[in-house]
Amino acid sequence: MKVQVAKSAGYCFGVKRATKMAFEAVEEHAPICSLGPIIHSPQLVKTLEDKGVCVIQRVEDIEKGAVIVRSHGVTSSELEAIAARDLTIIDATCPFVKNAQEHAAQLSRDGYTVIIVGEKEHPEVQGIVSFAASGEVWVVGSPEEAESLPRRRRIGLVAQTTQSYENLRRIADLCLSRSAELRIFNTICDATSVRQEEARRIADLSDVVLVIGGFNSANTNRLAQICSQIQPRTYHIETAEQIEPGWFHECTSVGITAGASTPHWIIDDVVNRLTNFED
Ligand code: SF4
Repeated sequence: MKVQVAKSAGYCFGVKRATKMAFEAVEEHAPICSLGPIIHSPQLVKTLEDKGVCVIQRVEDIEKGAVIVRSHGVTSSELEAIAARDLTIIDATCPFVKNAQEHAAQLSRDGYTVIIVGEKEHPEVQGIVSFAASGEVWVVGSPEEAESLPRRRRIGLVAQTTQSYENLRRIADLCLSRSAELRIFNTICDATSVRQEEARRIADLSDVVLVIGGFNSANTNRLAQICSQIQPRTYHIETAEQIEPGWFHECTSVGITAGASTPHWIIDDVVNRLTNFED
């Protein structure tokens, strides 16, 4: 059975950075808190918890010490609440997310109606919205939703980092017809599209596909969906223990990919388990 792991499988730049910061911070400041899970990997969150990083949902629940901000950021009011409580802040917000927050804030200060292309409920988008909240701000997820946007003289557009270029382009087209001036900041990060492209290729070449990553990770779920459309024998797992030998009946090639928040040790475990089946 040939096993092929996607080159891009696992941590993206922002997650790798946030994880490194969390491990370093816990050495220096333990115990510390993270506002929401630092990344969408229950196994990594558990490892950090064992070292002294507790996950809390509200700043008010932190009495003292240090707090680490997750890779997809928090809202401006949460940052203010952290500062007001005199907590040490370790800001692991991904620089690409920060870039989107800063453009949204600047556009708002400059008097633009800010339109964010993204998923309303996603914490990253809620964070970006909060930085533009001094003016008018809208979130649209699709060109269909953008049809109902009002006409405004000056519109500023930014995108959630994981959006597709196609979605941003189509929404930008609609905004153009609704404004006299349109400023667009391309705040999309390539990590998602690179992983999706590679997942398509691997699914095309394999009899069975394993997609590894948190069941709560949106980008992993999306990879699993993409792979299943191409190869119905696609399985989404969080750990090697979840693999069932029966999945590989008459299989000669297994493709493996993993979400942007999947630790490498879990990918290695999966490869080892498959190798042991063969022995
Ligand atoms: S997907 Fe991109 S924006 Fe999001 S954390 Fe990773 S590198 Fe940063």
